[in-house]
Amino acid sequence: MSAGLEEEHEALLQFLYMAPVGLVQTRHDGEVLMINPLCAQLLMPLSRDGGLSNLFSALGDVAPDLRHRVAQFDAPHGMVCDSLQIQLSRGQSGDREPRILSLSLLKLDAERLMGLLSDVTQSVKRDRALRQSQAWIHSIVTGISDYALLSLDEQGRIRDWNPAVERMTGYSGAALVGQPFSRFYPADAVPAGRLQDRLHEADANGWSLDEGWRLRADGSRYWGSCLIAPLHGPGEEQPDERAYSLILRDISDRRAANEEIRRSLTCDHLTGLLNRRAFFDAAEPELQRWRRRPRPLALVMVDADHFKQVNDRHGHAAGDAVLRHLAAGMRATFRAMDLIARMGGEEFAVLLPDTTAEGAQSVAQRLCERIARQQVDVDGQTISYTVSAGVSAMDADVADLESLLKRADEALYRAKAGGRNRVELWCAGPAAR
Ligand code: GH3
Ligand code: MG
Ligand code: MG
Repeated sequence: MSAGLEEEHEALLQFLYMAPVGLVQTRHDGEVLMINPLCAQLLMPLSRDGGLSNLFSALGDVAPDLRHRVAQFDAPHGMVCDSLQIQLSRGQSGDREPRILSLSLLKLDAERLMGLLSDVTQSVKRDRALRQSQAWIHSIVTGISDYALLSLDEQGRIRDWNPAVERMTGYSGAALVGQPFSRFYPADAVPAGRLQDRLHEADANGWSLDEGWRLRADGSRYWGSCLIAPLHGPGEEQPDERAYSLILRDISDRRAANEEIRRSLTCDHLTGLLNRRAFFDAAEPELQRWRRRPRPLALVMVDADHFKQVNDRHGHAAGDAVLRHLAAGMRATFRAMDLIARMGGEEFAVLLPDTTAEGAQSVAQRLCERIARQQVDVDGQTISYTVSAGVSAMDADVADLESLLKRADEALYRAKAGGRNRVELWCAGPAAR
């Protein structure tokens, strides 16, 4: 191995070691070759003799067929089990609630297995951990040969790079030194301040991963993932001691396949907008960011007026066409960085980063006017309809997303009561309903 490669390898190993999921590499017979601290912590209570030399033995009580599964797995490499849930009933004396571990086991080659283990006991956390694990599997396994590794200073400026960066992005490594890593992102894709947020998230969570459009030096775009992890320890809080590692990957090939899965999980079938759950998943981090660093953040709830009558008069299929028309109108009115979701029925929500209540109110007003102006042609019928909207904005009294939605909903109720086809801003006072 050349010195450069060795260094890269070393950096990757260090990265895996600190990963926020349990990672274990074993031989084909389960003998442990490498185990990170989190994995050891998860497995230790299961081991009968306190030893962790063999993964299959350590999990023998709770996943007795693991060895068999591996033996039966004929392919030269691939996923032996994906997010297998292991219920811990024994070896956990003192725990009242049964804990659940999730195990993904990957055959790397004839000699080696890689296991990812996480505690997924709490159901909300479980969902997230599974998705994180999947992201990690992709990042780690498919990416060994095609990742670009950079190090960043405390401001997110590039300090160092490996040669793959030049190949992947077209930038000369030397020219990148001192540049912010936002160089790799198209300007319109992320709100201002987001890249700094990513560093804070990496500090708080141990890592930060995102996927989306990236920019090459020649202006062309590719679909990439970007994983950031702090290189400093948790105790080293002085700004000049902070540094980060960034792994940039071109995952354009996987995008088509991923896109299909992603759409089916996160999109509303009728309109293609985010579904309720995806909205919550994407909006929560925005609120966390707000808590770390408050800045304008607004929410708009939109509800079609007298929609029951649309259905009654024109039929359910026409009603569906109206909902699609409204979704298209919303896409055209709000920005690419706004989160637009169908929350259910004829009700929609939009979260607007970097936007004040008044700003959101005027955008919502534009939407109302646009919809009232237009007509929808469905099967020879011409349908006119209107929408009402309620607006709320984040402030220190708003505890969570539910409360922010509730405020917007109260404002929406006032818009309905006030005659519909209008926008109301939430204001303090007794709740309207
Ligand atoms: P308001 O102005 O007070 O909001 O009155 P509304 O009639 O819009 O409200 P209401 O909640 O009474 O009715 C909502 C209707 O939306 C009832 C339901 O059948 C219809 N709806 C919900 N989901 C869909 C859908 O996916 N497609 C269609 N076509 N209709 C739907
Ligand atoms: Mg309605
Ligand atoms: Mg409604």
